[in-house]
Amino acid sequence: RQAAYAELRDVEPFTRCGTRIQVMMNAGLRDDMANLPLVGADGVGLFRTEFQFLVSATLPQRERQTRLYRDVLEAAQGKPVIFRTVDIGGDKAVPYLASDESENDENPAMGWRALRLALERGGLLKAQARALLEASAGKPLRVMFPMVSEPWEFDAAKAVFDEQLAFLRKQKKQLPDEIHYGAMLEVPALAEVLDLIIPKVSFLSIGTNDLTQFLFAADRANPKLAARYDWLSPAILRFLRRVVQSTTGHTIDLGVCGEMGGRKLEALALMGLGIHRLSITPVSVGPIKELVRQIDLKQIEDAMTGWLNAPPPSIREAMTVWAQERDI
Ligand code: PEP
Ligand code: MG
Repeated sequence: RQAAYAELRDVEPFTRCGTRIQVMMNAGLRDDMANLPLVGADGVGLFRTEFQFLVSATLPQRERQTRLYRDVLEAAQGKPVIFRTVDIGGDKAVPYLASDESENDENPAMGWRALRLALERGGLLKAQARALLEASAGKPLRVMFPMVSEPWEFDAAKAVFDEQLAFLRKQKKQLPDEIHYGAMLEVPALAEVLDLIIPKVSFLSIGTNDLTQFLFAADRANPKLAARYDWLSPAILRFLRRVVQSTTGHTIDLGVCGEMGGRKLEALALMGLGIHRLSITPVSVGPIKELVRQIDLKQIEDAMTGWLNAPPPSIREAMTVWAQERDI
């Protein structure tokens, strides 16, 4: 099988009906970038910049951040990389950041983390914005913000980038060729105001790891709950269907960057819902490319409509049978 996936490395993932699916990979460290040519992903759909912060004993200086982002872009060799601004705080606590404040979080996943923290620790986001802008000089920059719950948070984060951009322009520094701003959709509240956020962003990336935990009120790290909620349950799939429906007709790039997209039936479900960009763990890229090449979108879309309008006792079982019948 590994050999078969290696053969797929340079093969573009088209469905049988001819739709190009973007199969990107998730990364967080410089070393992860070595996987990009190995698995033949379409780029990095989620670069978790907090990894550098988490492995560091002190706050990473701006120059160090710039160096990392530059190296990552260099390693990507022109393929797109979506940098996510830091998602620290809460359960991803770092000792050098006013721990007295985040230690008081009784529900760290829902606490003072990610963009909530970054907007209040303005210096941190400012430094990261500068580092990302400088590292992308003469190249496209793609940046997204984690845990956006309301559109104003996106505006506030983008304003920090705009300010740094203006500064660099004044300094006559080389700027990025183009900048694409996006938001993670991982807090259910944002889904209720999609019409307000869509005009502001060029892409949205659904973070199904956090989204599921918030939708089911089930801690993603609690093993006692791990088997209880299924990614193929009508609740999550109908939620995602509604998101897709709200974005149709808009020029917005919608993708999924949670672990859900790296599993066969789940990826099948996502494609059946109309999601054509997945960013997944590198080892899943080969298997998902193979899956893409086996499917006909119309067939899976129709099947999903049926399952979601009148859910069988287990969509997972229904999908398993469906896939087996088609040798998928
Ligand atoms: C997610 O929440 O689905 C996600 C991709 O981000 P992280 O796993 O880093 O929270
Ligand atoms: Mg998340």
